[in-house]
Amino acid sequence: MGKSVARAASGRDRLRLGPARRYAVSMAETIFTKIIAGEIPCHKIYEDDQVLAFLDIGPVSAGHMLVIPKEPAVTLDALSDEASAAIGRVLPRLCRALKMVTGSGAMNVLQNNEALAHQVVEHVHFHIIPKPDGEQGLGVGWPAGELDQEQGTALAQRLRDALTG
Ligand code: AMP
Repeated sequence: MGKSVARAASGRDRLRLGPARRYAVSMAETIFTKIIAGEIPCHKIYEDDQVLAFLDIGPVSAGHMLVIPKEPAVTLDALSDEASAAIGRVLPRLCRALKMVTGSGAMNVLQNNEALAHQVVEHVHFHIIPKPDGEQGLGVGWPAGELDQEQGTALAQRLRDALTG
């Protein structure tokens, strides 16, 4: 399935697609599908039927790893409940292993969706990035505002409706 199909089915339209169709638009081959297939090597940390974890080739800090579903969804909103649960099950375990090895519990779990939000590889992935000190690891811009209560009430309602709609 080509990228043009994925683009055509992006945004609001994608929300309306049934599960089978949603996954069908996410089948493009990426560097990560090649790693899953064993066509490209990686420093593997963990693997089961649905999940693979390996070291990032461009670490932000030592121990920086990627956790990916084998299901080839491009962004998190397109991932099945089953694959999401499989990832959720192993993320804390991998954090514990990282903490044991680095001796520090300070770390960030990061997941980018779409190029504007810094996604480069079009296959869902979670970064686990140790934060050994103030200099190393992830730096985060956090331009916090203040939630207007009236707007918050309306926005939360719209989001609840989107979940059930
Ligand atoms: P993102 O910007 O969230 O899409 O991050 C993609 C990540 O994939 C980057 O941190 C890259 O360093 C990493 N990456 C790209 N190719 C490989 C590879 N062959 N093996 C391991 N990590 C990779």
